[in-house]
Amino acid sequence: MVESLDARAHSTADVSPDASVGVGTRIWNNAQVREGASIGVECIIGKNVYVDVGVVIGDRVKVQNNVSLYRGVTVEDGAFIGPHVCFTNDRIPRAINVDGSTKTDADWEVEPTLVRRGASIGANATILPGVTIGRWAMVGSGSVVTRDVGDYELVVGNPARRLGSACPCGLPLRDDHAGRQFAGPCPRCGARFPPEAP
Ligand SMILES: [Zn+2]
Repeated sequence: MVESLDARAHSTADVSPDASVGVGTRIWNNAQVREGASIGVECIIGKNVYVDVGVVIGDRVKVQNNVSLYRGVTVEDGAFIGPHVCFTNDRIPRAINVDGSTKTDADWEVEPTLVRRGASIGANATILPGVTIGRWAMVGSGSVVTRDVGDYELVVGNPARRLGSACPCGLPLRDDHAGRQFAGPCPRCGARFPPEAP
């Protein structure tokens, strides 16, 4: 049975007929999904979320309330985007050109931003453009991510810096005092860390 879009999006959500939304995805109050955006299956798109033109979201992604996903952002399967996370798409923003004329889309280039499979971004973090956040990485709440984050890497602060690793189960695994990465069975789930392959 084909699910109708009406059954999946709240009546106040504004979902473009030119957007693609997978089966089982729920879109909540006042969210806006622009033309050309693609959202996979079984996602949650929270209240007031903005999904810009051409944004790609994989399967089983959770996007919490008030997140802005701007053009150039790709989110892979299973990523978690916490409430109020702000993606940006201009590293050196100006409203006007030097001659005083208003900047338009022609005056800047989109820098692609990638959130890889299983990564988590804590509440109110800001992600600068052109950054890749690795598989199963974890970004602490309120962080400002200015550079790439590696697979399984745990980063916090402004600018976000490495604190250690994150197990796929979610447990933070801090580096030791010498800066060496945790290695061994995860104290919570028992899985070997680091895993053999992402
Ligand atoms: Zn674990």
